Amino acid sequence: MRCPICKRPSESSPQNRFRPFCSERCQLVDLGMWAGENYRVEGGKQDDREHPDDRHDLTPSSAPRREDDDH
Ligand SMILES: [Zn+2]
Repeated sequence: MRCPICKRPSESSPQNRFRPFCSERCQLVDLGMWAGENYRVEGGKQDDREHPDDRHDLTPSSAPRREDDDH
């Protein structure tokens, strides 16, 4: 079972009272009760050079979009 919040493996045993979440924190996040800081748990490393969230603002409309992947 994976935690739906942080995508990390979560304990599926009855001992885990936060199921299906891995921890109380993620449970609170799901409830919208977590007022905490940046929880950004991603499996891979992130590139600092680019902020994907901002990209749509910066992308010129003339930029070609590649939707199909060529083999
Ligand atoms: Zn979690």
